[in-house]
Amino acid sequence: MRKKIVAGNWKMNLDYNEGLGVFSEIINMVKDEVTGTQEAVICSPFIHLHSLVQLAKGYTKVSLGAQNAHQAESGAYTGETSAKMIKSIGAAYVILGHSERRQYFGETNELLAKKIDTVLANDLRPIFCIGETLQEREANQHFDIIKSQLVEGVFHLDAAHFSKLVIAYEPVWAIGTGVTASSEQAQEIHAFIRKEIVAKYSQEVADNTTILYGGSCNPKNAPELFAQPDIDGGLIGGASLKSRDFVDIVKVFN
Ligand code: PEP
Repeated sequence: MRKKIVAGNWKMNLDYNEGLGVFSEIINMVKDEVTGTQEAVICSPFIHLHSLVQLAKGYTKVSLGAQNAHQAESGAYTGETSAKMIKSIGAAYVILGHSERRQYFGETNELLAKKIDTVLANDLRPIFCIGETLQEREANQHFDIIKSQLVEGVFHLDAAHFSKLVIAYEPVWAIGTGVTASSEQAQEIHAFIRKEIVAKYSQEVADNTTILYGGSCNPKNAPELFAQPDIDGGLIGGASLKSRDFVDIVKVFN
């Protein structure tokens, strides 16, 4: 059965020492307090990543991820980081398709499909983010938007590769706004995503796909969201910067 995952996205926050401090607190709390089989993932800036992987050694419930990777294997791409480099330091995940990358860096579904291929070829698990803007929801286009993000971004994969993905539904209007999707709104989209995976692949692949909710998730609203049958955890922005809040969200699955 699919894995329950709570992943933190630190974005461009915390300097090196601050990041090490917050992460040390997280691994200690996870060690002492997390009793279930859920996995906690921190997706840090590249600056922190190698040190955090070292700190997490021996803690089986804590994994690390990057927040981006370049689509090329290597080459003259000044300032970029390759999937192979990320793999080589022992990270396990890469967030791809976050709405901030789509909005501020012009990442399209077409580009993301290439990034997905490169990340998978390097034996990393993509956390593929999809979600509609407020304008799209108000125009009742949210199902179409979600479907096209899936079709254009990841449905070119065969079932074996698709099975390595984690999907994160993140309504853009809920990210960093303090406005959370209601548990009914989130469940409706998660069920829709799972239904699309059944149609494209199989019931078995869909049943095994972890689908996270992201958007102003916090220790107060996480229990109701995570109680929904198709919500398998969260992608957590702001609340992942505070060790106590992040671990309290992870503990919802205890
Ligand atoms: C995110 O950026 O993925 C996110 C969900 O942010 P926040 O939790 O701050 O809304």
